[in-house]
Amino acid sequence: MYLYNSATHKKEEFIPNHPDIVKMYTCGPTVYHFAHIGNLRSYIMEDVLEKYLRYVGYNVKRVMNITDVGHLTSDADEGEDKMLKGAKREHKSVMEIARFYTEAFFSDCQKLNIKRPDVVEPATNCIDEYIKIISKLLDTGYAYAAGGNIYFDSSKLEKYYIFNDHNEEDLAVGVREGVEEDTNKRNKNDFVLWFTKSKFEDQALKWDSPWGVGYPGWHIECSGISMKHLGEDLDIHCGGIDNAFPHHTNEIAQSESYLGHKWCNYWMHVLHLNTNSGKMSKSKGEFLTVSLLEEKGYDPLCYRLFCLQSHYRKSLVFSWENLDNAAGTFQKLIAKIAALKPSDEPIDEAAEAALRERFNKALGNDLNTSLAVTALYDVLKYKTNDATKLAMLSEFDQVLSLDLLKKAEEARKKAAAATTTGGAYSIVSESGEQDAAVEQLLQARYDAKKAKNFAEADRIRAELSAQGVELTDFPGGVKWKRV
Ligand code: AMP
Ligand code: ZN
Repeated sequence: MYLYNSATHKKEEFIPNHPDIVKMYTCGPTVYHFAHIGNLRSYIMEDVLEKYLRYVGYNVKRVMNITDVGHLTSDADEGEDKMLKGAKREHKSVMEIARFYTEAFFSDCQKLNIKRPDVVEPATNCIDEYIKIISKLLDTGYAYAAGGNIYFDSSKLEKYYIFNDHNEEDLAVGVREGVEEDTNKRNKNDFVLWFTKSKFEDQALKWDSPWGVGYPGWHIECSGISMKHLGEDLDIHCGGIDNAFPHHTNEIAQSESYLGHKWCNYWMHVLHLNTNSGKMSKSKGEFLTVSLLEEKGYDPLCYRLFCLQSHYRKSLVFSWENLDNAAGTFQKLIAKIAALKPSDEPIDEAAEAALRERFNKALGNDLNTSLAVTALYDVLKYKTNDATKLAMLSEFDQVLSLDLLKKAEEARKKAAAATTTGGAYSIVSESGEQDAAVEQLLQARYDAKKAKNFAEADRIRAELSAQGVELTDFPGGVKWKRV
């Protein structure tokens, strides 16, 4: 497989360090709020990478941290701890907030068919690891104490900037909320490894350390957690592009200074999901969640398909219109699969090999998911039997995770039920949502029209309209969507 490596700024052949395992690390969520669909774009694309590596036969061990301490409102160690901010907002304890939003995160992941990593580790679980690394960095002169905090000394490095081929805007450090520069820092790029003299005396979580009671900086957690579970080397490290600087840059600085050798070989960064007003972000306060998509009647997997339709190294603009297009594509795709006839015909091996080659050519080339989606249509169009087509779709869906066969089966059953209840009349939800109450009303409207009771049909249309459901009749059926 070829993968673009942000550290070398090149597409490179992926060769793991060890033949028997691929070690993969993902920066997890800061659990002070719900994940927004931008965060989840990153996790969807990383999920495809993990599943594709498994699909081509690698044994993958994937580790993810949960940031429940130390991530300040500015990514450059300034401002308030985000967790504390969340706790104040909701009048709860930091641990309650962490527990609630961690569960919410994995529930969203489940709805999007994002696999849970093999190891999920909260940052607050690994204080001893951070103390061990920081102690050695102090002993070897890579770190210093100032104003009560411990800082990494970036001037000790030959090369600090790694990911500098990105836009200034993408590298911009998170939101600054009227905070002053830290005057303890010797150099602009120095960063906090351990806070003791926090500017925020009300920091809820504190631990004993050789440098006094305090808490770890955000960056050290990913180095500590990765080394705890994956050892001294790493094959692939993933995250959204905003993590490249300073977070990943600092992870490399401290990990390689601590280890005395190269740490991670491949860096994969997912570009942002943007709205018309710029990057979707939790701190701006206006963001879209999976629950909101569901409330508006979208199947969360429409959003997964929407993400798969574009390359992870291009920023993606979210709009309801774009999501509607993905929902329409998804529904048509499922309808086509539902029209295939399951049978025990023998598998056509030549077709299988040709189709697999297209799929591998797409994903093996820096995870081209949009071409991998096209490969699904190649299966549908290919001159071969339905059993082979269904087998290939099922195989490709191990990576794309769109529940293709399950949804096609549901659609088939629904069509059969419609036929047995006497209707060739089709009721189509534009977003793919299933809502029995809406469908019942639409069926009643159809029955009323058939009985020439147009007043009743109009009344039902008005009732649905009051619920925000818009109808479009077409020959043989009706399409509905929420507006
Ligand atoms: P956070 O919970 O803020 O620590 O972010 C979790 C993950 O989402 C990180 O990998 C971020 O880089 C990524 N991320 C944040 N905002 C976006 C966005 N608008 N689009 C894509 N990924 C994002
Ligand atoms: Zn991280």
